[in-house]
Amino acid sequence: MASKESDRVVIAGGGPTGLIAALSLARQDIPVLLLESQDSPKDHRRATTFHPPTLEYLDELGMVDAVLNDGRITPVWQFRDRHEGVVAEFDLSALKDETKFPYRVQCEQMELNRALHATLADFPNVDVRFSHEVLGAEQDADGVTVRADTPDGEQTFAGRYVFGADGARSSIRRSLGVRLGGFTYDEKVVQYGTTFDVSEAMPDIAGVAYISDPDEWCVILHLPEYWRVTFSSREGEPDDVAVSDDVAEARMKAFFGKGGATVELHRNIWTIHQRVAEDFRKGRIIIGGDAAHINSPMGGMGMNSGVHDAVNFADKMGQIWRGEGEEDLLDRYTRQRRHMALEDVRQQTIRNTKFIAEKDPAERRKSQDEMRAVAANADKSFKFMMGSSMIAGLRAANVLE
Ligand SMILES: Cc1cc2nc3c(=O)[nH]c(=O)nc-3n(C[C@H](O)[C@H](O)[C@H](O)COP(=O)(O)OP(=O)(O)OC[C@H]3O[C@@H](n4cnc5c(N)ncnc54)[C@H](O)[C@@H]3O)c2cc1C
Repeated sequence: MASKESDRVVIAGGGPTGLIAALSLARQDIPVLLLESQDSPKDHRRATTFHPPTLEYLDELGMVDAVLNDGRITPVWQFRDRHEGVVAEFDLSALKDETKFPYRVQCEQMELNRALHATLADFPNVDVRFSHEVLGAEQDADGVTVRADTPDGEQTFAGRYVFGADGARSSIRRSLGVRLGGFTYDEKVVQYGTTFDVSEAMPDIAGVAYISDPDEWCVILHLPEYWRVTFSSREGEPDDVAVSDDVAEARMKAFFGKGGATVELHRNIWTIHQRVAEDFRKGRIIIGGDAAHINSPMGGMGMNSGVHDAVNFADKMGQIWRGEGEEDLLDRYTRQRRHMALEDVRQQTIRNTKFIAEKDPAERRKSQDEMRAVAANADKSFKFMMGSSMIAGLRAANVLE
């Protein structure tokens, strides 16, 4: 039998996935040990888009105000052509009968992380350890043993289950021995922040816009304090040059006819993948979030999926913990969440990436015409928004047996 100290779920990684899993478990009186490799709650400037189902889950967990108060509510988003302007516009208020939150919110994921850490500090059944880098996990019939590099040297931590939410390079995924199948895009994405008002250069721009162009595509996101602009990397340009002052300024000026205000703290370059793990669970070891699937950020779905994984996992773990369900519920977690990653998020983010970056003129025209036709038809537009807001895909995945 498991000893008292090991009567807990160990979570590797304190990003959005691990923190939401911790909160969801703690609220069901399940003890949690969360091991995070960094020395404090911090994150890169990555996810900003929160979709309606994620806002609903955060609402249930008492966390939605952290995102609504620090974020920008964005009901309308666009597909655009760099030279011809708006191709298709989607107003999510049409989803008002389907969700309490008929909009996207643009908010830095690190704001959510900070709020979650502050909330978890009030739970006596949650033990968060920073500067604990998980090295791997082993299991037997009774529980798991998680190895971690800590300020006191290598240590082991026992638990009944381990949830690997330790990001794209997950040590827990390696312990599972599963492959992260898929592909990596040749081009990277380069992000700049700017404090100049993009709407002065593009008066009809929405708070989220995907702008297609064969030579210089762009994604624009309006955050409360700045605009985030994403371009493709350029062939042969080293990463440090791509994010340098001169190059950032020159690209912004060429695109908007205006520069001089790029934000020093926000310049990044990222490699982009479409990869899903072969399995999300073996026995008592389970993975979720970027540890289990990574996708192009076009559509803003990675963090949202991680939150959905965490809620789904914690719900099933709660049933198992209370003796209301068997361990095979965790296989259902895998079926539901892997289906969403492979059949929904992957398809949508590939479509969005192709829409903005397509170079072939005939293909570009075809995908723009398709989008125009969707936006012009109320039924098609509604269906499209149900999908791109992750509502339809999540509903379909959640009823899979
Ligand atoms: C440019 C860009 C833009 C994006 N925009 C969006 C968006 O708008 N919307 C969206 O939904 N998604 C977006 N994403 C994706 C999103 O950022 C990720 O999907 C999300 O961060 C995944 O959360 P996670 O908690 O699973 O992993 P992470 O956020 O990577 O968190 C993992 C945590 O584990 C810790 N860790 C790592 N290794 C170990 C270890 N061995 N031991 C202990 N701890 C460890 C890390 O320090 C980190 O705190 C974007 C990604 C990029 C790159």
